[in-house]
Amino acid sequence: MSVGAGSTENAVTAAMVEANRRVCVGSGMCVAIAPGAFELGEDRKVQVRNPLVDTELDDLLDADDGCPVSAITIHANHSQGN
Ligand code: SF4
Repeated sequence: MSVGAGSTENAVTAAMVEANRRVCVGSGMCVAIAPGAFELGEDRKVQVRNPLVDTELDDLLDADDGCPVSAITIHANHSQGN
């Protein structure tokens, strides 16, 4: 798990999300947890829907935690407050 600076509470947070397609094994865990941020491409590898997403930070962190190959990086540095 990798998290950038700016720890927040449970507020909706715009965060920069990255996924390493080279190590992705296509488990789909991140898509199941945070479908607004991730999807699987035709090659069954992760794709970030939009690098600057508006998703619950907890969901992004859960997707990060759930990835079996640590392919996801979350930079939670765009907190939008309470
Ligand atoms: S959880 Fe990890 S391995 Fe599974 S699809 Fe997402 S990035 Fe790929």
